[in-house]
Amino acid sequence: MNKKDLPSDVAHYHSFQEELSTQSGVVFRGERVVIPDKLRGDIVQRIHSSHLGIEGCLRRARECVYWLGMNDQIKTFVEKCDICRSMDVKQQKETLWSHELPRNPWSKVGTDIFTLHNRSYLITVDYLSNFWELDYLPDTKSTTVIHKLKAHFARHGIPDVVVSDNGPQYISEDFKRFSRQWEFKHKTSSPGYPQSNGMVESAVKTAKRLLKKGKADGKDPYLAMLDQRNTPSQGIKASPAQRLFSRRTRTLMPMHDNLLQPKVVHTQQGQIENRKRQAAYYNRHAKDLGTLKQGDRVRVQPGEHNKTWTKATVVKPVDHRSYDVQLDSGNILRRNRRHLRKDRVTTAENTKPADGNRDSMIGSNPIKDTPVFAVTKSGRKVIRPHYLKDYVQ
Ligand SMILES: [Zn+2]
Repeated sequence: MNKKDLPSDVAHYHSFQEELSTQSGVVFRGERVVIPDKLRGDIVQRIHSSHLGIEGCLRRARECVYWLGMNDQIKTFVEKCDICRSMDVKQQKETLWSHELPRNPWSKVGTDIFTLHNRSYLITVDYLSNFWELDYLPDTKSTTVIHKLKAHFARHGIPDVVVSDNGPQYISEDFKRFSRQWEFKHKTSSPGYPQSNGMVESAVKTAKRLLKKGKADGKDPYLAMLDQRNTPSQGIKASPAQRLFSRRTRTLMPMHDNLLQPKVVHTQQGQIENRKRQAAYYNRHAKDLGTLKQGDRVRVQPGEHNKTWTKATVVKPVDHRSYDVQLDSGNILRRNRRHLRKDRVTTAENTKPADGNRDSMIGSNPIKDTPVFAVTKSGRKVIRPHYLKDYVQ
């Protein structure tokens, strides 16, 4: 049959007719369900039901459904959503890379506690898949946190490494006993340095946004989590669920049976490439800072315990990026390298603050650097923080 002989509404499908098939009355293009005109409105609502933002919605849709003009219809719909517009943040990068990429899923997890709408939550995120678990905490006792973590470890296995901050729940005797009995290594990050737990920070942001949007439109937050877990991540052609379980999990989106079959996704390579690029940029700075050794004189960036760049002496390195330092007043603090500036003058004569020091430039908050402009696909001009300039979109 010739394309020109076809009615205009089906002529479009002529060009890829070999890809079309039917199964129980449903038309597929490859493994994507071809959505008839009448159902498109409903599907758009389903795609967007968890307010995943335009890009997230498009990535989800492209996996499982198809119709002519789909992208535009989704974009137009999402752009009009009040909830998305009131709460959308700039597209967030998955993580600021500062850890080794684990080889296996659920081998390294980060955990943290956050509060939203006067309720406390526990988040536990896998470094490889970026899949996170969320628990409501009736209280923030160490034993309660341990109890929730045990449930996740019983489901996904015991991680090799658990990363957390120095919160009282995590530095308790109970937690120490837990890590000993369950045989995992517990690593605490240095305070005031969120990048070292960037994976968790990023998961907390996503979870909060998801809970806020759910509250705003009264939708089931668990369905929103299900959607989020099944949305292919930016730059990686697999969702957190696929990376953790090697399969998609069924959502309310119509889906070809094949797409639900287990299949190992070799995303690690892509992820490594992605992160190498980020790490290269990050490490360039980290390397410039140089390592410190015991006895080195430093200045500590102003913070809770000190109002100015305070003189201190390195007591010992904790790991390759954090150090225990002793202030001249005697207090011992743990600080990240970025918050320590090497004091080149060791005598007391030099009282001038070392502001012109190269260390301080590199150690400064990169977010405050000159912004660069980027133009989104929709033509909107956005300011991208300087530190992301080398990152791949
Ligand atoms: Zn929305």
